[in-house]
Amino acid sequence: MKPIQIAGGGIAGLSAALGLARNGIPSVVFEKQKKIGASRHGDYEGLENWIFSTNHDVIQSLGLNLASLQSFSVSEFLVHCPPNNPVKISSPEPFFSIVSRGAHDQSLDQWMYKACIENGVEIKLGETCDFDKADIIATGSQKAAAYIQGGSFQSHLPDQVHLLLGNNFAPKGYAYIIIRNGKGTLATAYKKPMSGAKNYVKETITYFHNVGISFNLDNTFASRGSFKMPAQNPFSKQITIGEAGGYQDLLFGFGMKVGMMSGWMAASHLAGNHEHASELHKMLRKKLRLSYLNRVLYERLNDRMQYSLALALAKSDNPVAHLRSAYEWNWKRMFTLVSGRKPVEIHYS
Ligand SMILES: Cc1cc2nc3c(=O)[nH]c(=O)nc-3n(C[C@H](O)[C@H](O)[C@H](O)COP(=O)(O)OP(=O)(O)OC[C@H]3O[C@@H](n4cnc5c(N)ncnc54)[C@H](O)[C@@H]3O)c2cc1C
Repeated sequence: MKPIQIAGGGIAGLSAALGLARNGIPSVVFEKQKKIGASRHGDYEGLENWIFSTNHDVIQSLGLNLASLQSFSVSEFLVHCPPNNPVKISSPEPFFSIVSRGAHDQSLDQWMYKACIENGVEIKLGETCDFDKADIIATGSQKAAAYIQGGSFQSHLPDQVHLLLGNNFAPKGYAYIIIRNGKGTLATAYKKPMSGAKNYVKETITYFHNVGISFNLDNTFASRGSFKMPAQNPFSKQITIGEAGGYQDLLFGFGMKVGMMSGWMAASHLAGNHEHASELHKMLRKKLRLSYLNRVLYERLNDRMQYSLALALAKSDNPVAHLRSAYEWNWKRMFTLVSGRKPVEIHYS
């Protein structure tokens, strides 16, 4: 059998290769960087725990043991909405499992790389794939709709997670800090305003410095997210997956699980398991349509409303369940969107 050609060795491309290998189908992954994960520098990213039900556990399907990556879960964090005092949000179930991204040992990227090699996938590093020859395109985001900037740092501070909201730090987005075992990540994910854009990384660092969390970034990163919907029928001659195909949560940009699932979907289709592939595709599109709706609602919130939302989540017994409900179809939310009214319905109480 002629190996399936995959353009892009990010987590979407590697998930597809792994899925194919598990079905006995050979593949070749072309990755233009010299090392898998080279575009990330040890930053922490979260595998969220609210978009999908446990029936669709892509982590299990891939055979990934998060403990082997020194992953840790986050069940509590502080939300800062200056000038108000920070509020603590805690949950009986974790919000996310944090993993490290990059080309180092124990990064998610390197785990996927090794799993692919062990399963006989051929990976051509430092090689660009000609799009015409690719069966699967997994080349990451192409157009910028939102930006994410930040960096990693060393810190003597104890483990902690903070979310920072506000137009000064992350317009229509959010900024965050994750510190674990002396290593930290700071990032701000935002949409550029039409005018008056600031250096949001600097603003965010200054804010955290003023509340007693000081550090110097060792390395910086800047990337972009392109918000688009996956194709109605992705199973044409070429299958486009991961961020390249629009498989990314549009609200908070959580793209890892979504990207992995899209890779799994492509592999199922090419392995002839069309029913499973189309079930995954329908489910992914549904979730991503809801994430679009969530983004439209979120973009209507001003700083004061974001604070109200944080307070409401802080009061909740199970904020993860509330987040999960935002990814379920709900006519009341749809009505809020269509009517153009302020989204009071998302003030959970
Ligand atoms: C700073 C940052 C923080 C994030 N935080 C989170 C988070 O907390 N939780 C979460 O779920 N998601 C997060 N995301 C999003 C998530 O990381 C991405 O959605 C996901 O990694 C996208 O995977 P991908 O495989 O689609 O694309 P990419 O990771 O972009 O991989 C595409 C690969 O294709 C290669 N490539 C491109 N063109 C070619 C070509 N022609 N030939 C060969 N190779 C090519 C590139 O070098 C790259 O390695 C974050 C993203 C960033 C940038």
